Amino acid sequence: MGYYFDFHLHSCLSPCGDNDMTPYNMANMAALAGYQIIALSDHNTTKNCPAIIKAAEAAGIVAIPAMELTTMEEVHVLCLLPDLTAARELDAIVYEHLPDISNDPEIFGHQWVMDDADNILAEEAKLLTSATSIGLYDVAALLRSLGGIAIPAHIDRPSFSLIANLGFYDEAMGFEAVEITRQCDKKIFMSEHPELKQMPYIIDSDAHDLIAIPDARYSLALSDLTAEAVINAVAKGELLGRL
Ligand SMILES: [Zn+2]
Ligand SMILES: [Zn+2]
Repeated sequence: MGYYFDFHLHSCLSPCGDNDMTPYNMANMAALAGYQIIALSDHNTTKNCPAIIKAAEAAGIVAIPAMELTTMEEVHVLCLLPDLTAARELDAIVYEHLPDISNDPEIFGHQWVMDDADNILAEEAKLLTSATSIGLYDVAALLRSLGGIAIPAHIDRPSFSLIANLGFYDEAMGFEAVEITRQCDKKIFMSEHPELKQMPYIIDSDAHDLIAIPDARYSLALSDLTAEAVINAVAKGELLGRL
């Protein structure tokens, strides 16, 4: 059975995420747009994951914990986690590897930690979009050690992507799958990056505001509507297809 998914969404905790991207709003918008399973992947944090998991449950869909990690090479990597314990662990590790640069809400936007009823619990002071000191070659193993899985994000984008920043994919990076954008022309992209041939891929929205959450289009055959089933599907390469 296929489930409509979007594993790359930003809440108001990401400085670039719109203030209306509250856990409650996101869960309900995703349900309206036809998704059965979503992941909240804020920049370098999982602190709004507890709220979206609850809000999604109330909206009749499933949310799984995630993060979009920025490596020291400024490459974005989507990290999917099996549960909130692993999410908290990754959050703590990444926070330690984030430089001590303060967010300026006037310039970058607010970084709100919220509950599932859209109450502001805290405002994160450290700028979450900085590059961490975690290297790209260490991310896949780090996620595996937490029972999760890492997927290089929007690899066809001209910035903050593995291909844009490194120029090529190296098997030694150890990823099982990649994320491409809805706009990716696979034929042209693959003619330039044959090293990615046969790589399993997913497509997500990377929405930063409510109207950018598109109607559900892509579905996965999951054994179950759980984070574990998603992580298993990625590990086995049972995704939208292969590049
Ligand atoms: Zn990104
Ligand atoms: Zn993103």
